[in-house]
Amino acid sequence: MPAGPFASSVGVGRAEPEWAALNKVTGVCGDFARRISPPRVPRVQSSPSTPFNSTPDVYELHPDIIASYGTALSGAVLAERCSAELGMTSVIIDKRDHIGGNCYDYVTEDGIRASKYGAHLFHTQHARVWEYVQRFSEWIPFDHRVKGRVPVPGAGPAGDKKLVPIPPTQETVNALFDAGVRDEDAMARWYESERVAPAHGGEPANGEEAALSRVGPRLYEVIFKHYTKKQWDKYPEELDASVLMRLPCRTSTDDRYFGDAWQALPARGYTRLFENMLLDDPNVTIRLDCDFFAHREKGTLPKHKLLVYTGQIDSYYAALGMPKLEYRSLRFEEEFVDAPDGGFFQEAMVVNYPSADVPFTRVVEYKHTPNQPNKIKKGAVRGSLIAREYSCADGEPYYPVPNPENRALYEKYAALAAKEPGVAFVGRLASYKYFNMDQAILNALEMFDNLKETGTLAPKRRPEDFGPGDGPK
Ligand SMILES: Cc1cc2nc3c(=O)[nH]c(=O)nc-3n(C[C@H](O)[C@H](O)[C@H](O)COP(=O)(O)OP(=O)(O)OC[C@H]3O[C@@H](n4cnc5c(N)ncnc54)[C@H](O)[C@@H]3O)c2cc1C
Repeated sequence: MPAGPFASSVGVGRAEPEWAALNKVTGVCGDFARRISPPRVPRVQSSPSTPFNSTPDVYELHPDIIASYGTALSGAVLAERCSAELGMTSVIIDKRDHIGGNCYDYVTEDGIRASKYGAHLFHTQHARVWEYVQRFSEWIPFDHRVKGRVPVPGAGPAGDKKLVPIPPTQETVNALFDAGVRDEDAMARWYESERVAPAHGGEPANGEEAALSRVGPRLYEVIFKHYTKKQWDKYPEELDASVLMRLPCRTSTDDRYFGDAWQALPARGYTRLFENMLLDDPNVTIRLDCDFFAHREKGTLPKHKLLVYTGQIDSYYAALGMPKLEYRSLRFEEEFVDAPDGGFFQEAMVVNYPSADVPFTRVVEYKHTPNQPNKIKKGAVRGSLIAREYSCADGEPYYPVPNPENRALYEKYAALAAKEPGVAFVGRLASYKYFNMDQAILNALEMFDNLKETGTLAPKRRPEDFGPGDGPK
């Protein structure tokens, strides 16, 4: 039965000592000066009361303007840096009714800190990014670990299931296949004995061949095959080899999901981090509930010298009638479970369901995180909020679909964007690239470097040079 919160001998949200020691975040750290600040009254203006109109209000308020579009990480970092170092002013508009983009979190009426767009786990290997984010929040060390409820081989798709670490570790293969693996060498040999090279003798030509050559048919069947189908609505054999070439093959007992040097959660959530970045800054004006295209069509965007565009690149060029880029989305089904045993619904913060008989991909239970409000940490709330995640084609564009057709189409859009005067295309949707939070921050910081060095707000490297990003989890 669940016994939460998900902890180890090191503490809540920590891995066992050997692996927790690899996390360079060793205790609560970050900007203590802001810790005791009262909750912010957002200095934001939303369009129903203050629409953009033909009067030059914003332009006159901001004679040196960057109209940055999207209050998510990319837009926020650029507005913050341009203000802090160059004294430039920004108007950030967002079609949503809140700041923070997909990182947005909030405290429910039951007192649970929850994410509106799925759990966000911060992890980075970039010292520069880690230094930067600590300016705007306190951080709590967190070693994200995922469990999977995986069918026991031979028990049939809906048969017995065991709770095992994901990505697979020694414990996973021992529990599922009785593999008797006791050390790293034995685990490496186990993988070797399982792996199946493509029959044609060449490099894996699709996702299935890639997976079989990485983990072999048994792990593939129970953990990766049907999960991939649920995530992409395509079986691995219909996907690029690259999608499954990255399957982690752990030989150790390290059950942490990420291997990065710094892994933590913002002590008061991501929304507070955005508030600390933007809301006290007189150079930054935020307008919510403002759709960029609606205002562009009406001619009511504020005048600006430079547009930082963080939306979908294909939407920007919709008038050209080119095909749309393909995205996967998620549907979140939230449920408040009134009185789960011991106050927790499941054993870990994230439990994946890789089998075909369960329609959702994973269940997130927020109460397990160490950055919950005190009421939760003290156990004063009996119920628990869970979110079941269903992968789908329609809805908010979350994950670019990696295949040759989409890549070729994106290159056409990117060529147009490169010639667009006065517009910088920035971030996940504008680059058609899944950026982790830290990658989005680093990309924005490097673009700002370029602005200072060359006068041009342009990336220092191509989106793919940031590495693959986590993608659907
Ligand atoms: C479900 C999910 C889970 C994730 N989990 C993690 C995680 O665990 N760890 C991690 O490191 N990263 C995670 N990420 C990635 C993280 O959310 C992104 O790195 C980050 O949000 C990137 O920000 P961005 O600025 O590039 O773009 P986005 O977050 O995509 O922001 C774009 C902004 O533009 C706005 N916008 C779009 N269209 C319009 C319009 N027409 N008019 C006005 N505004 C508009 C949007 O409202 C949004 O605020 C996750 C992403 C998703 C989708």
